[in-house]
Amino acid sequence: MHDRDLLFALSAAQGPVGYEDEPRTVVREALEPAVDRLETDAMGNVIGTVEGPSTSSRTQSGDTVEGSSDREVVVAAHMDEIGFMVTRITNDGFLQLDSLGGWNAQILRAQPVTVHTADGTLPGVIGAEPAHTRDEDDLEDIDDLAVDLGLDGDDAAERVSVGDVVTLDTQPRELGNCVTGKALDDRAGVYAMIAAAREAEPDATVHYCATVQEEVGLRGARAIATGEEFDPDLVIALDGTLERSVPGVAPEDRITTLGDGVGIKRKDASVIPSPDVVAWLTAIAEDKGIEHQREVAWNIGTDTGSLQFEGGAVASGALSVPVRYHHSPVETAHREDLNATVDLLAAAVSRTAEFST
Ligand SMILES: [Zn+2]
Repeated sequence: MHDRDLLFALSAAQGPVGYEDEPRTVVREALEPAVDRLETDAMGNVIGTVEGPSTSSRTQSGDTVEGSSDREVVVAAHMDEIGFMVTRITNDGFLQLDSLGGWNAQILRAQPVTVHTADGTLPGVIGAEPAHTRDEDDLEDIDDLAVDLGLDGDDAAERVSVGDVVTLDTQPRELGNCVTGKALDDRAGVYAMIAAAREAEPDATVHYCATVQEEVGLRGARAIATGEEFDPDLVIALDGTLERSVPGVAPEDRITTLGDGVGIKRKDASVIPSPDVVAWLTAIAEDKGIEHQREVAWNIGTDTGSLQFEGGAVASGALSVPVRYHHSPVETAHREDLNATVDLLAAAVSRTAEFST
């Protein structure tokens, strides 16, 4: 892997939707040496720009005029993670929650969490019903869950406020040929973007964007898309995608397969990438011998869905990192898929001249 420590730091950083300070700090530090300019916009999106190579052209009078490449590319990966917001503190000191992003409530029982208050963080656990007293047919949703702080009602009310945010408290780990942890959707994509930025020698001006609030509707990317600042000829977003090559799932329902390489997206619920961009990315992967797979998903969205409207219609592609156990504390990504994602993005931004709009 290009930089395991960076991936682990990104996974461990606590940054639920709208409160991305920790991952933003990691991103800024890691991206800064690889770009010419780094800025953070009012929503919290981080944008690192690499100026394209200078081009020189001759005027009619024979003078040589220096200019920079006028091709512009926006690359994006989202740094928010799904989390929770406190809606109520019960008289007994338990916290009730609202979702920030799409959770399967069934997997949240017995999870350690971190509560982010104005005065710092508190450890908590989401309670679980013992097998002895559990009703077998009980299907849960988020309203059935409560965070136990080990505090009585008065202490909890003093230390926690409605509107405080809550994140899973899980550290990343190696898992065979994979890594596992929380927030690999989409810190794995952020990681791949930064690793590619370090390696690539772009033939265009590239804006590497670590976006916010993707999990509630591609909102950070929408701010970039509707702003006046960039006028890209091409956008490429990187995101985690569904991977279900596990027992009990039929092959046609697996979407992607761990270890089969970077996904080149054909479709998801938010976007149908431009066929010519799909063909161009595929040709680069084949030319460079980068493992890749076709991704067709129907129940996931990605920042490309907002960015393809940037200042009008823009040629758009999306690269997907297969992430098993999506939106859980044990999201799992394969090292070789991560490597392939880095390699394909680095090659693509170095060869944009081959793609003409
Ligand atoms: Zn995602």
